[in-house]
Amino acid sequence: MIADQSVESLKGVGPSLRAKLERLGIFRVGDLLLHLPIRYQDRSRIVPLRDVSPQQECLVQGQVVDSTIAYGRRRSWLVTIEDGTGYLGLRFFHFSKRQQSGLQPGTYVRCFGEVRFGPRGSGRGLEMAHPEYRTFASEPPDPEPELTPIYPTTKGLGQNRLRGLIDRALSFDWPSDSGTPYQTLAYLHRPPADALAEEIEKAQERVALDELTAYYLVMKQRQRDRAKARARPLPQSAQLGRELLRRLGFRLTQAQRRVVTEVLEDLSNETPMLRLLQGDVGSGKTVVAAFAAIRAAEHGCQTALMAPTEILAEQHYVNFSAWLEPLGIPVLLLTGSQSAKERAARQRALEEGHALVAVGTHALFQDKVNFNALALTIVDEQHRFGVHQRMALRSKGAAPHQLVMTATPIPRTLTMALYADMDVSVLDELPPGRTPIDTRVISDGRKEAVIRSVAEALARGEQAYWVCPLIEDSEQLDASAAEPTAHRLAQQLEHPVGLLHGRMPSEQKAKAMIEFKEGRTRLLVATTVIEVGVDVPNATLMVIENPERMGLAQLHQLRGRVGRSEKASRCLLLYRSPLSAAARQRLSVMRDSQDGFHIAEKDLELRGPGELLGARQTGEQQFRIADLARHSHLIPEVLARGERLLETDPATARELLNAWAPEDNGHIAV
Ligand code: ADP
Ligand code: MG
Repeated sequence: MIADQSVESLKGVGPSLRAKLERLGIFRVGDLLLHLPIRYQDRSRIVPLRDVSPQQECLVQGQVVDSTIAYGRRRSWLVTIEDGTGYLGLRFFHFSKRQQSGLQPGTYVRCFGEVRFGPRGSGRGLEMAHPEYRTFASEPPDPEPELTPIYPTTKGLGQNRLRGLIDRALSFDWPSDSGTPYQTLAYLHRPPADALAEEIEKAQERVALDELTAYYLVMKQRQRDRAKARARPLPQSAQLGRELLRRLGFRLTQAQRRVVTEVLEDLSNETPMLRLLQGDVGSGKTVVAAFAAIRAAEHGCQTALMAPTEILAEQHYVNFSAWLEPLGIPVLLLTGSQSAKERAARQRALEEGHALVAVGTHALFQDKVNFNALALTIVDEQHRFGVHQRMALRSKGAAPHQLVMTATPIPRTLTMALYADMDVSVLDELPPGRTPIDTRVISDGRKEAVIRSVAEALARGEQAYWVCPLIEDSEQLDASAAEPTAHRLAQQLEHPVGLLHGRMPSEQKAKAMIEFKEGRTRLLVATTVIEVGVDVPNATLMVIENPERMGLAQLHQLRGRVGRSEKASRCLLLYRSPLSAAARQRLSVMRDSQDGFHIAEKDLELRGPGELLGARQTGEQQFRIADLARHSHLIPEVLARGERLLETDPATARELLNAWAPEDNGHIAV
């Protein structure tokens, strides 16, 4: 079938063009159809020169009446055209002799570009800089009757080239039932000039529905494949879990008990577990993971616990050693900053099965790391990892059980569609004794007062965080930076101030963290690297500068660093005024709620789930066309349709899968 043929089967597509297309997720001819425009330009209508206005992007045409080189601040070439209604300048800062001889007075020219005022001192007439243009010896023909699509593209691949390829793909004889809604796609590639925005949107929805359904089917397929695989069943065989409960020093919350039961139940089956544990910051996910690792250890089996940062891995290592070693379960830490020698020794311990639990970072799934009997993988803050990283860790064992944890609450409907291959547990209860965090939204005009609040908290023996979006001052960005802020605050406050940011070597980061944990530094100035999982109960005040630049999910994570003890905690959102209406609205969500799920729902409402799902962090593009910010309302229909296809129409289900997620390109990845 033409849809499945490699793009290289098209005339004029060689290895170099193929490589560029692959960067866009285009492998097969059918993928060209799925590569939809991000926007359109109206080149169907010629605007009379008298009617053009600044900032307008439009098509104009006329005859060249003048061509001169202008010597202003920069040398440029100015061509003036005229159409009987008015004049327009075309300005070029780079140009060739050939271009100049092509635009002689008398030539007809049709241009497309953005209209603007000319440079200061040039009389400030209207002009276009570097328009796209075509010349004609006589009166030009009528313009194209369709909107001109603008495609997402990549370096070295121009719009015209891409347009041409897509034209080729569109010209084939597509069967109407090929799993691709050909008519709708053709319409979206080449909409008529009078198409309404709503009509285009409807067509996009129609395609997004297919894509999301295909995605759902992939997830269901994975779930079925998993059901066929055989893992090592890990039923209860000793009393080590009970022993941990006795030694823990706190009682599990009801939610923790429920989730531990769910996890242990899964582990005792021979179907590999794949469970997503969602729990707000501070809900106590780590200890749930510890019970799972203990169960594996009872069988002499190994567990790998992977965290996204060294700080977090070390923190888990400290907790896991304290909990598990007294039970006779050896735990080790494996991170990238260890020396080759240290790592080699630990790798041997894992290979020979001396260590039963490995806590670490990405270092865990490197080639050299082999396990003796890996039966369980746990991924913390899973949205920070891509699916490939989770798979790489999984491949260290034979069908290991998998527990993935996230503090990013995802609205339920989204979970059902996006994580349809996983079972889900929710920790919907915080441990007792947490006091609510008093959150205030404050203009940075009152920074001195905020600094006084910090001084007061430190004077009471408490600790504080001060978060800045940047590391050092930037010329481009008007935002606060951690390094200079740390210097300034160290001078102003009579207490030791620590600094933590992502560009520090990891030993320094760990040192900064430990000094703060042990109370040797009282204020920690940091970038958002502290966002993930850090636990210092004595810290009661969190100042966040430029919160208007951060997403709600991130702010919620940051704020979760305080409110971890019985003492009252505060979070001051120190925004740079003036604040846009949208930013004000988002910050007031933070002020009014501390419920991660509520905040996530609001975030979805206000700006879409991009950040929520961490697509940005992992760099994995999720969808070609669907945009959850605009299409999440389709999800109930996606679920119903997916189920219906699976039950009654497997042929269509297969076609959808083939069109959107052929095995060979793995484009759909979560
Ligand atoms: P998160 O879900 O954000 O990963 P952690 O596992 O780091 O949360 O737990 C946060 C803090 O709460 C830790 O200091 C942990 O020891 C403590 N904790 C966990 N469960 C309980 C509980 N049931 N009672 C009291 N404290 C708890
Ligand atoms: Mg955690």
